[in-house]
Amino acid sequence: MCDIIIMVINDMEFISLKDCYKIYRNGVTAVARLNLKIEKGEFVFVIGSSGSGKSSIIKMLYREEKPSKGEVIVGGVNVAKLRDSKVYKLRRRIGIVFQDFKLLPNLNVYENVAFPLESFGLKKSEIKTKVHKALDQVGLREKYKSFPRELSGGEQQRVCIARAIVNEPKLLICDEPTGNLDSDTAKEIMNVIEKINKETQTTVIMATHAKEIVNRMKKRVVCIENGVLVYDKEKGTYKTHENTKAI
Ligand code: ADP
Ligand code: MG
Repeated sequence: MCDIIIMVINDMEFISLKDCYKIYRNGVTAVARLNLKIEKGEFVFVIGSSGSGKSSIIKMLYREEKPSKGEVIVGGVNVAKLRDSKVYKLRRRIGIVFQDFKLLPNLNVYENVAFPLESFGLKKSEIKTKVHKALDQVGLREKYKSFPRELSGGEQQRVCIARAIVNEPKLLICDEPTGNLDSDTAKEIMNVIEKINKETQTTVIMATHAKEIVNRMKKRVVCIENGVLVYDKEKGTYKTHENTKAI
């Protein structure tokens, strides 16, 4: 079962979580009866206070965690049922950006971005084209020879975004990508991600606390409190449990 990965069968249900639960071994229910559909090309903010379950939801999309109950479908793939030996195929199609930059300190910018492509059996010239294209998309073409320690926080996060998109994924997942950045740099990073979403129709799912950014960008907002979806709105704003009720 699930030997063949078929990406994007149905654009209307590019991502679908059905009655999804995540209960950790210590008994914590991080996600409860979550139903969520995301179409191809959407830009979705996942908001909610710390510990509300945002990262747990995101981890289920790239099979870092399996749902305890329910279904998680990503691009036609039933992620929970995917064999361990096939998970790498799913991850090749998903770009992931975290709060902490997770760059390899001994590799330069070019090498960091090329890193995920290394096992693909591509020609050096193909890798070069892809890496420079990705660096162009994040506005870092000039700095390809720099090492992470020579870059600002914002530049390091741009490198991470380039590394995440270098294989042209259908889905870009970002977990608090601006959490370590000042507000001006955070805005720049958001502009880069928004541009990628618009120009390449890459679906973007972003967990964030950045209230100002969420309110400015007017994207779909999904709010999670105690593992439960309490708010889901197109062109939404940053709402918390005080002004939302369970839906
Ligand atoms: P958020 O990203 O919104 O801060 P998380 O998804 O990280 O929330 O956490 C949701 C809840 O699940 C929290 O109560 C957290 O302590 C718990 N949790 C997260 N990961 C684990 C884990 N691996 N084992 C046990 N509990 C966990
Ligand atoms: Mg988190």
